Amino acid sequence: MADPVLHLEGLRKRYGSADTEYEVLHGIDLRLERGEFAALIGPSGSGKSTLLNLIGLLDRPSAGRLVIDGAETATLDDTALTRLRGERIGFVFQHHHLIPAFTAEENVAMPLLIARGRPDAAMFERAGELLGRVGLADRRRQLANRLSGGQQQRVAIARALAMSPALVLADEPTGNLDTHSADEVFALLREVNRQLGTSFLIVTHDPRLAHRCDRIIELVDGRIVSDRANEVAAGRSPVQGSAEETE
Ligand code: ADP
Ligand code: MG
Repeated sequence: MADPVLHLEGLRKRYGSADTEYEVLHGIDLRLERGEFAALIGPSGSGKSTLLNLIGLLDRPSAGRLVIDGAETATLDDTALTRLRGERIGFVFQHHHLIPAFTAEENVAMPLLIARGRPDAAMFERAGELLGRVGLADRRRQLANRLSGGQQQRVAIARALAMSPALVLADEPTGNLDTHSADEVFALLREVNRQLGTSFLIVTHDPRLAHRCDRIIELVDGRIVSDRANEVAAGRSPVQGSAEETE
């Protein structure tokens, strides 16, 4: 079988130092196959964002194994980690972090510009194509701060896809949106998953949205307390063996 897109073994995260040290993640084991569309749920403070930040290589684990797209991250130096993050992982946050005075197109092209060092026509062509995919073909030249909240989040999704990541990490991607926009943005993530085969790990507080994922992973106090295939996810049979194979 192909490498999973993500494999965690005994992943731990501690904050603080010496006598103030405390552990937030107590040994996380998780395996995410290619093309999975999974929700990460759990109470506030349970460690969801901490876990996403470790997987997204924004922070280093205190212990355990973190393998992304076949790469054993403990063996990589900072340069290699930065490259792996840029090329294989896309991020969507609750707040879109767009550059307000840049156009939609410039925001989407930004990861390509960072990777390649100088702008070229192909970059903007790619940005335009991605904006079309998220339903904003006619907003290419609009400044980010002139777009609605839902549109800004769509631009952020297009930007997350710029480098064709294997895995997209989304931390409360609809947390800032009204119900209607949240539904639309969520449907868009699902469409990207189906059309491009991109894997998703989505933190959400909204049970309604979690139930539209193929798999629901629940974190409580820094431990996975349940991990199950969600048979009711609309129009799709559950991902085979995803829950059972988590060792
Ligand atoms: P969630 O996203 O599930 O709400 P978090 O991962 O943000 O939870 O936080 C889990 C715990 O880790 C909380 O107790 C939080 O205060 C603590 N924590 C998160 N980030 C840091 C940090 N950078 N330094 C110290 N403690 C942190
Ligand atoms: Mg959080």
